[in-house]
Amino acid sequence: MGAQRSRRGGLIVLLIAIVVVGIVATSVTVARADPSPGEKSVRVVQWPEAIAPIAHRVELIRGLRFRHSVPVRHVHVQRGTTVPVDARTRATFETALQPLVALGLVSGDNDVASLVSTMYESPAGVYSPESKVIRIFVPTGAAFGHAVLAHELTHALEDQHFRQGDRPTPRTASQAIADRAVVEGSASLVERWYVHEQWKAPFQREAPSGAVDLGTSTPLRQWEWFAALGTAPYALGLEYVDATLARGDLPWGRIVAYPPSSDVVVVDPLVSPGSLWQATSPIPSALVREPAALEVFLVLASRVDPADALEAVVHSAGAMLTTYERDGRPCADLTLLTRTPDDPAVNATLDEWIASAGAANASRSSVANFGSRVLEPARTPTGAPTVLLVKVGAPVLTSCRGVSAAPFGSFVVPLAQLVGRNAAIARALRHGLDDTTTACVAQAVFTDPQVRDDLRRALGSQPTISANHPRRVYRRAVAGCASNL
Ligand SMILES: [Zn+2]
Repeated sequence: MGAQRSRRGGLIVLLIAIVVVGIVATSVTVARADPSPGEKSVRVVQWPEAIAPIAHRVELIRGLRFRHSVPVRHVHVQRGTTVPVDARTRATFETALQPLVALGLVSGDNDVASLVSTMYESPAGVYSPESKVIRIFVPTGAAFGHAVLAHELTHALEDQHFRQGDRPTPRTASQAIADRAVVEGSASLVERWYVHEQWKAPFQREAPSGAVDLGTSTPLRQWEWFAALGTAPYALGLEYVDATLARGDLPWGRIVAYPPSSDVVVVDPLVSPGSLWQATSPIPSALVREPAALEVFLVLASRVDPADALEAVVHSAGAMLTTYERDGRPCADLTLLTRTPDDPAVNATLDEWIASAGAANASRSSVANFGSRVLEPARTPTGAPTVLLVKVGAPVLTSCRGVSAAPFGSFVVPLAQLVGRNAAIARALRHGLDDTTTACVAQAVFTDPQVRDDLRRALGSQPTISANHPRRVYRRAVAGCASNL
């Protein structure tokens, strides 16, 4: 059986947070705790014999000490059970999925019951910041169980130093992904380093690090869009944390305690660290959905070159998604808030997307009137109105039900290419390459046709594909970029 880790947990949370309920703007903001003063007294933290060496390795890798141990429970679960889906749940899901069907991200023929079932599949491990308990759902005696435990112990360790309960509530999908990317990226980075140390004979290496993990069940292949969204904060988050540490401008603790305010820096660690991805201010109640930078990247990369998809994302400062009916069919408008009006590069990318999706069901337009405009008046006497920062010339991609659904591999392969690109960035920064050379290496790895073909071939035979390209791809990129100087 392939690796599961706690990656499925990501799938579940994102499904609930982004698709079904939408990111509801709550007024709850939790104040951050002050940085904790160093422990004065030295306490010996007691762990069960089987866990102590793993907990100790995690402490050394992460550079933090446990303040107390946490209970670790091994739970046996029956996999592959189907969950009954009532008519109301079915209707809720079908409504929520309409914009995704209109954009060809999921097939309108898929049975939502299989999606609901995947949501109830348990991950490999879980740490609960509420109960402070770790639960492991895979055999704990083998190498994979150790790696899962190292990952969950990292969550517990970081929760003891930077309380997860003190984190601000994410208000947009972009913030939610950024928040998850630092938490899961940090734990995944510790897990990777732990595995590199520990996975020697007689243990067999089960999954390559930096892997994009689709899971093993058939429904997850059917719902690849969600599988990609669920696994992305782990894979991209790991490379984001690694690249940020490599750059050396933020200590590890701050990266975790103060997550970036948007996910565009997770999608592309080369954009300026303060880059924002937000269309409206404050967030409107229910009128407009703001897809995260990651979602826009995946939407575009499902039908165009991933490098062009990434360029369109970094040329934008946010996006909006509206759904409506036209001629009895659900349609979706994806508006990109480009930094310059009628951005020719972005327009060319959208035209390419339309050509691939079929012009009968997709088209492009641009916002013709209005500069910034008020969408919603203030809801309370002292509240601020909601302002949409839509400028004239912002491109709009329209797509309606009837477009072909993106074939299997359309999301996971570009995602793995992006992870490989960002891994190359982290490596280049560690090697002390300057920004120009790093960007050149990133582009060369990202657009390497052999890497893409290898990923496609691998995806055909196994659920986990490695985004860690052979060292020679990186070396070739460095050599090519150095000779261009
Ligand atoms: Zn985790």
